[in-house]
Amino acid sequence: MAERLAEIGDEEAQQRADSLRASLADYDLDDEDRLLLQELTSGEIPAGETGAPPVLAIVGRPNVGKSTLINRILGRREAVVEDVPGVTRDRVSYHAEWNGRKITLVDTGGWDIDVRGMASRIAEQSEIAVELADAVVLVVDSRTGVTATEEHIVKMLRRAKKPIILAANKVDDERGELAAAELWALGLGEPHPVSAMHGRGVADLLDEVLTVLPEYSRVEQMVEEGGPRRVALVGRPNVGKSSLLNRLAGAQRVIVEDFAGTTRDPVDELVELGGRQWRFVDTAGIRKRARQASGADFYAALRTQTAIERAEVAVVLLEANETLSEQDVRIIKTVTESGRALVLAFNKWDLTDEERRWNLGREIEKDLAHVAWAPRVNLSAATGRHADRLVPAMDRALAGWDSRIPTGRFNAFLGELVAANPHPLRGGKQPRILFGTQVSNRPPKFVLFTTGFLDPGYRRFITRRLRETFDFTGTPIELSMRIREKRKRK
Ligand code: GDP
Ligand code: GDP
Repeated sequence: MAERLAEIGDEEAQQRADSLRASLADYDLDDEDRLLLQELTSGEIPAGETGAPPVLAIVGRPNVGKSTLINRILGRREAVVEDVPGVTRDRVSYHAEWNGRKITLVDTGGWDIDVRGMASRIAEQSEIAVELADAVVLVVDSRTGVTATEEHIVKMLRRAKKPIILAANKVDDERGELAAAELWALGLGEPHPVSAMHGRGVADLLDEVLTVLPEYSRVEQMVEEGGPRRVALVGRPNVGKSSLLNRLAGAQRVIVEDFAGTTRDPVDELVELGGRQWRFVDTAGIRKRARQASGADFYAALRTQTAIERAEVAVVLLEANETLSEQDVRIIKTVTESGRALVLAFNKWDLTDEERRWNLGREIEKDLAHVAWAPRVNLSAATGRHADRLVPAMDRALAGWDSRIPTGRFNAFLGELVAANPHPLRGGKQPRILFGTQVSNRPPKFVLFTTGFLDPGYRRFITRRLRETFDFTGTPIELSMRIREKRKRK
């Protein structure tokens, strides 16, 4: 494939792509399609999003209705799972959209059953979530009113100095409004009466929330282009994150404090590696032991997720000497879902023997087949073995993440691919790919205009061939379809 593609000149490929694009005029396109095609003629592939959506923390005592409210905002019931003691939740944050604006919701509820009933501890639990948020919704059960826990939470919120919206929940009908009004006493301004269960007032609450949220998160802020590349060093506790950071950074560390301008946590470090500066995000989260045993899962998961979203490349540290765990796989999934470049680093290599290395190979084939494209490094933070291979691996992953395939080349690729392996016939019909283009990088995203639905298997095939043909080492890639019908003749 690569050879055949090489025979097609750039100019020729571009001309062919132009005529394919022109033929789209015969199809029913919507405004968004036209905008996309228009941007293309300017010859530029737009860069990926430069800002992360603002983060909203939902805090409050257990049972006030936080999960119900989040589910209501997300518009689906199963989003936030019921609390099961001893079971770690998959996620702490959810992507929501309101009036066309994206918001990341952080749920602070239900993480630690033990903590229930202890007013001050509950306030403490939500503190990190608040530090990592742009604004806060405090949910109060208007039927119960203000308890000692609310008083503790309010004190904590005052220190955090983030915008606060007060939600008076369980106001299922007009009769409840009076009770809601009593929450003025908290001194947080107007209580917004809502019924998370029935949806009453939730739209008004969200409208209010949007007025206090910044356009892009100041907490999960993506630092300006051209600065040092941002790395998240993540992995489950005890895999050796802090040992590796010490090994890499040595004595020359520059701590970038106060980047969010509001809180001390988290903290980034500038580390010089391979003659260049790299920005390791939230190193405080790596260096500090999780605050306390209770709720540690919550802190760890929240910090991991936030660090990944603020980074460009995630180095997921795994323990070479231990069986891959569900938690490892979950962290990797967070990276791919966030669309970040990925490097897998197997630490504690010094502890492995031949048998273990053989088994590890099998585990990688079985559990990590979906990220076979990620560069892997086997290293030891303790001895320093192969620590110098990390930089080339990060460079490769970032190069894949940054890459842009010219529209001409991409369509030549599609043409060759379809000619050799056409889509299987479906009921006598065969969906055709009319035209394709990369719509953004970081990570690379592609859109195909087609005349019908492409089988998931066929889309996977295209993705696989894309990886083989162009170098997408270390980056997730996204391929989506826009099915368009031929315009009816008038
Ligand atoms: P969390 O612990 O703060 O996440 O609270 P949940 O969302 O789990 O809700 C606790 C209980 O309150 C559940 O039984 C919900 O069904 C109930 N609940 C939540 N919102 C409302 C509401 O607006 N009205 C009424 N009547 N009950 C609610
Ligand atoms: P973190 O919780 O991920 O930051 O892990 P630490 O850096 O605190 O390491 C946990 C433990 O693993 C410590 O006892 C380290 O000394 C040990 N450790 C870290 N890296 C290595 C390694 O490469 N080889 C060996 N043998 N031990 C290591």
